[in-house]
Parts: sequence; structure tokens; C-alpha cells
Amino acid sequence: MKFPKHTLRLFVWLIAAGVSCSVLAEGRGLVDTTSSSFAQIRTVGLNEARWTQGFWADRFALCRTQMVPGMERLMEGTNYSQFLRNFEIVAKEAAGKSHGASFNDGDFYKFMEGASATLAATNDRALENRLDEIIAVIAKAQEKNGYVDTWVQLHQRSGETNIAPFQNPENFEMYNLGHLMTAACVHYRATGKTNFLAIARKAADFLCDTFRNPTPALANNLICPSHYMGIVELYRATGDPRYLELAKKFLAMRDLVKDGGDDNQDRIPFTQQEEAEGHAVRANYLYAGAADLFLETGDTNLWHPLTEIWTNVVAKKMYITGGCGALYDGASPDGAKDQKHITRVHQAYGRDFQLPNTTAYSETCANIGNVLWNWRMFLATGDARFVDVVELALYNSVLSGGALDGTNFFYTNPLRVTEPMPVELRWSRQRVPFVSSFCCPPNLVRTIAESADYAYGKSGDSIWVNLYGGSSLATKLADGNEIKLSQETDYPWNGRVRIKIQSCDKPAFALKLRIPGWAGSASVRINDSPADNSPKPESYFEIRRSWKAGDFVDLDLPMPVRLMEANPFVEEDARQAAVQRGPIVYCLESPDLPPGVKVSDVVIPSGLKLTMRYDRRLLDGVVVLEGKAMAQARTDWNGKLYREFQPAELKPFNVRLIPYSVWQNRGPSEMSVWLPRIDQTR
Ligand SMILES: [Zn+2]
Repeated sequence: MKFPKHTLRLFVWLIAAGVSCSVLAEGRGLVDTTSSSFAQIRTVGLNEARWTQGFWADRFALCRTQMVPGMERLMEGTNYSQFLRNFEIVAKEAAGKSHGASFNDGDFYKFMEGASATLAATNDRALENRLDEIIAVIAKAQEKNGYVDTWVQLHQRSGETNIAPFQNPENFEMYNLGHLMTAACVHYRATGKTNFLAIARKAADFLCDTFRNPTPALANNLICPSHYMGIVELYRATGDPRYLELAKKFLAMRDLVKDGGDDNQDRIPFTQQEEAEGHAVRANYLYAGAADLFLETGDTNLWHPLTEIWTNVVAKKMYITGGCGALYDGASPDGAKDQKHITRVHQAYGRDFQLPNTTAYSETCANIGNVLWNWRMFLATGDARFVDVVELALYNSVLSGGALDGTNFFYTNPLRVTEPMPVELRWSRQRVPFVSSFCCPPNLVRTIAESADYAYGKSGDSIWVNLYGGSSLATKLADGNEIKLSQETDYPWNGRVRIKIQSCDKPAFALKLRIPGWAGSASVRINDSPADNSPKPESYFEIRRSWKAGDFVDLDLPMPVRLMEANPFVEEDARQAAVQRGPIVYCLESPDLPPGVKVSDVVIPSGLKLTMRYDRRLLDGVVVLEGKAMAQARTDWNGKLYREFQPAELKPFNVRLIPYSVWQNRGPSEMSVWLPRIDQTR
């Protein structure tokens, strides 16, 4: 049991009464591992860590001033779709019919989660009031038994007698309700109000009843499983053990599915899985949810697949950008000897080492799922390699999902785009305000709104510094020691970070600084004196001492430009190089090319020398890398697939590379992360 009985009784009463109780929400994070028995790391509260200056403060400001208001306008109802309007119609506050996709409720809850998370830092009363109005509409739309899903409710209302709750997995009810629960927990922790949480509890109680005795037909309702994360978080927020039992039941229920396939990761039981297969968003959400369950139960049957699958992803299936999902469409397990188990997959992980660049799916949601999963793996272990993946995905394949204007979005995040493209693809090659599958944009909004919560963690008498960025932290350790510190840095543009102790109630505690895997020669100074030991990459460097206000630590993470190559099994990257500096993956984009040169003409020498330059005016301020590449003269292929080899003439030119995440902010363009390289002989 998580809480003393009397606390729990008071708590349940407060929630039942819909009473605002901010004291209970204090210091609770996005994922709250304060009482998780198998967490090595406790999360800090949503209102405890804040971006103050630099890269992430700028992104958070964009989120607050453009992304949240822009998405609110869009979601109030446009010709595209009518997210909020669907709730208003169910609540009988507006007339009309259901319009939009069956998963739009879930996407709307993601927006609410993002908007709520910004409240933790801004105390924006107008936004808080607007959310209260919306929550009142959702409460009215919720049925007495706790069920709420506007697509099903409105289609039932229009007389479609074959539609009922949990009859059709394609109605995405579990996805919708999972996001309802997560959003409600974040709203509760950010505001202290229980109005949204009460709706989530009622919905969860409905699920407890409906899934009391799961059948194979009911078990099919697991598509895009945000509900494992949602229900475990609701357990953490309320302490109600029924929700943890429900989460366990939901995961076990997967084994009831008849004729499952890899697209939904239910061809074989989860506990036997060792490779990432199928729809990459669904996969990563499942893995994140299973990791959540592990944090509460310590079930080693969950940990084994999680670590095996993780190794499979990181060693064989993840893009250099941290992106997941190689395929638009495919079959899995592709090439298996036993053909009767092969099923269609879409938006999916490919085979080992199958990482095409032009046709990469790398959906923004899958890449966010990679963050959610790795964050929970870190919370379970304190292992820096998981935060390396969190950071890699955030800076590259997550942020690439949104334009610098905050209102245009990618659905897929390819690593190469040429004009013309070799094949036609489903989704836009340019960021757009609306996609019929609107899962990614609000997912990006919530991720940026919540990004500060990933920056720090704590355990025993230690503060863990996970992400670098100008920020402040005010939190309490388990012994009540209140610590306030600040971080000043221009990271990720340079690797110098200063952490300053603002105040601490007790002097003895440890600071743990994450040393990224790429930081080969990091150094630490404490109050201007070198630390006793040298930091090791892919680990946390512990500084345990007696602290006082004004003490400061200088961490230096040298960021040389690194020319990267892929494992030779990745055919698409053979004899090519990518460029990385610190956590940032770079790309070549056509606006930076001389007239007449196309991306596909460019070749780089393996001894490519690039110099960095911060350009304040370019792309809202980025470090660009400049050097000499070569362009080969283009010839006409006349529609042929093969021809006799024609040696190309190479001409040097000045090349400029930009961070991958900000490509396609200067109009339609070509782009490539991987570039053919010419190896020089000695
Ligand atoms: Zn998506």
C-alpha cells in the first residue's frame, strides 16, 4: 500500500468531492515514481524544474505562446476536424454530428495535457479557466457509468445500432481513455485541481467493471496502447490499488488475443518477445507501459523482454536521429521460415538493419514513444545510456516534428528527401497545420511542455542532472533537505555547463551529472578546482561533498564534430557518413547549396573538416557547420536502371550543414542526413 490508510481515506473523499487539493499534488512529476517500489530514481515535480534561458527555454516559450494557443484554436473545431466540438455535441451544448477520426478524443486529451503542463510553469489563469470550461464539457459528455468516447457515443446517437463500447478495436477507445488518464494526472499535478482527475477515475472504474472477466473479443481492444501508462499513472496519482490490478490485467489480457500479429505486438506473448516488431508507436507505447508496470511490481518477466527489445532497437533498428519505424508498410516477421505467422504491418519497425532514409517512417509519435520508454527504463535503473536515447530523440527526431513557427507539423521524419522523389509516399514532405491522423502535433506540444521534467531526478541523498539547459530546480530530497540550484549553459551549442547551488537546508548531498556517451574527454571543476576523478562517458559522475549556497560546478563536455558511419549491415548507409556534434545530428539542406547543385550530387571526403559557427539570425539561432565538400556533375539516366560506370567529375564547393531538426523551415527543399563519402588513401 502506498499511503497510510487515513491519508488514503481523506484523499478518496477529497477526489469524490471534487475538492481542489493542491497540497497533495505538490512535487509530483509527469511520471510520479515517488512511491514506486522498483524505481531507482524519483522524479521531480512538474513545478520544480523550469527552463530559464537558452535552447529549451526558447522552445518552451514557443510552446506556450504559439503551439498551445494555435492548437487550441484548431481543436475548437475547424473544417479539418472538430475535436472539442464532438464533446460539446455529446454534452448537448452544440448541435451536429460526429466529425473526425475515432482517435481524435485521445489527441485532444494530449493537447489538454500539454496545456496543463505549461500551467505548472506559467500559472496562466486564463488558460487554467479555459481548461476548467473544457473539463466541464467533458464531464457532461461522460456517461453515468463513466464511459466517454465521442466517436462511439455520437455514432450510437445517430442510430448506428451495431456500434457499442469496445466492439471494434479500430474505434481506439483504449488509446483515447489512456490519454484521458495521463492528461488528468498531469492537470492534477500542475494545478492541484481534481475536476479532470475525477473524470479519469470514473472512466477507469468503468474499465474495471467492463474488463472484470476479459474475453478474447474484449482483449482485441489494445490498439495503440497508451492505456498502460495512463492507468499506472492514475494508480500513482490516487493510490487506488484497483488501478494497478487493472494495468496488470490489461497486460496479461494480451495473451487472450486470437490470431494476433506483429502490427499490434500480439503474435507471441509479451514476456517472450525479444525484438521490436510492428507498428512503432504501438510498440514503443507498449514498452513504456510495461516499464511503468515494472516500476510498480518489479516483475522480472517484464524486465527480460524490455531489455532484450531495447538492445534490439538500439543496436539494430533505431535511426541515428533516435527515430523509430523504418517502414510505411511491410510484413512481419519478414523472411521468417514459418510463413503462416507472417502478417501485414504498417508505420512499423523493419527487419534488423533495415533503415531506409527516403522512405523512413520515423513517426513523431514513435520517436516520442522512444523518449517515454527510455525515460522509464532510466527511472528503473539510473543507467545513463537510457537518457542518452531520450536526449538523442528529443533534439533530433522529436523536435523535427514541428516547424519553428509552432503551428506546422511533420507526421513522418525521413532522413533524406529529394526532388523528384524515387517513389510516391502517403504523407506530406512539408510540414502542414493539419494531418488527417492528428496524433503527432499534440504529442509534440505535450512533450515540449513537459521537457523540463526530464532534466532532473533524485534518489536518496542525490540530485541527478539528466539534461543540460538553462534551468532552475527547487526540490526536496527524501530526508526533507530542500535544495535549490540553477544551471547556466548554451547547450547544445556548446558543452560548458555551470551548476550553482542556490540554497540547501543540509550541506551533505550528492550531485550526479550525466556524462553522455559521446563525451570522451569530459572534465569537472568544483569551485574552480579540478574534481578528484575524471568523468566516464555514458555514466553519471557523482560529486558527494558538503555544499553551501554559492558553490558551483563547471562541467565541460567537449563537442568536436564527429563524422559517423553505420554498421555495414545497414545497406542504405553503405559508404556514407553523417555528421554529429554533441547530441545534434546535422543534415545538408538544399537552400545551403550553390545554384545548380542538388543534394544527390554532393559527396564528402572522409577527412572532411568542418568548423562551427553560431548564426544568430539563421533558423532562430543555430550552430552551423561549414567546410569543403564536392559536387559531382549530374548526368541523365534516360530512364535506365543500370548502365556502364561513368566516372564523375568532382568540383569542390563550400558546404554548410544545419541541425536536422530545423530542416524544411525555409520553404520546400531537398535534404539528406547521410552523404556519400570518398575515403582517402594514405
Ligand atoms: Zn503520430
